[in-house]
Amino acid sequence: MNLERKTAIVTGASRGIGRAIALELAKKGADVLLNYNGSVDRAREVKAEIERLGKNAQLYQCDVADYSACETMFRDIFAEHSGLDILVNNAGITRDGLLMRMSEEAFDSVIDTNLKGTFHCMRFAARQMMKQRSGRIINLSSIVGVAGNAGQTNYAASKAGVIGLTKAAAKELASRKITVNAVAPGFIETDMTARLPEKIREQTLLQIPAGSFGKAEDVAHAVVFLASEEAGYITGQVLHVDGGMAM
Ligand code: NAP
Repeated sequence: MNLERKTAIVTGASRGIGRAIALELAKKGADVLLNYNGSVDRAREVKAEIERLGKNAQLYQCDVADYSACETMFRDIFAEHSGLDILVNNAGITRDGLLMRMSEEAFDSVIDTNLKGTFHCMRFAARQMMKQRSGRIINLSSIVGVAGNAGQTNYAASKAGVIGLTKAAAKELASRKITVNAVAPGFIETDMTARLPEKIREQTLLQIPAGSFGKAEDVAHAVVFLASEEAGYITGQVLHVDGGMAM
């Protein structure tokens, strides 16, 4: 899988899974545009790591939940780069709570970032990819979007929505040689899962046939495959990276 001369953008690339995806794309030869929201120092570290690999990296601060901010980010990207080959919609948040205690604000903020953020970036990137008649779009869903999870109605709805969005866009864009797929991680060790109580972590581990939590790199390898030329005939799929948890 060779991504030399490809340009990729990864949203939420400052930490966790997004950081691992950005580094793995660069290792395979891509230049990587790094979107982040608040963690500027960590985003700069990822940029420096990619440059040490001999590839180009550029930072784009933007809250993906903000439609016009995304429009501006992609306008800047297309002013500075001749094309865009790969879009990875990774930016995501959780605001957990039981349904009866979930505020409208907690519900909306998760939908706005995880689902609408994915829509915003797909909309602006796909326009360029359609002109190029090629492209790869990979959206981060979750096992929770497939199976549900108590305390995560907002997050489950957003990640199930990402699957529907992926499949509909895959049908719209297939004739332009643009593939759209989702990756559904299980429990991956990042800041997002580090804050879960030890009891929940122990109970979750018992549900994973592989017997261990995943690493950000496990997800990154699946994303790189879907971004590659070799995956050109795969579209509208949900690739589970979860140690067998969702079987
Ligand atoms: P994480 O460690 O909390 O990192 C989240 C990343 O998203 C950060 O880089 C953050 O950027 C960025 N982000 C958050 N809100 C944003 C916004 N409004 N605009 C732009 N960037 C934003 O999370 P993670 O565990 O790596 O998760 C990455 C993706 O995988 C998410 O979509 C998550 O739902 C999904 N996922 C994770 C797991 C898991 O077990 N960890 C499982 C299934 C799915 P800043 O820090 O710069 O704000």
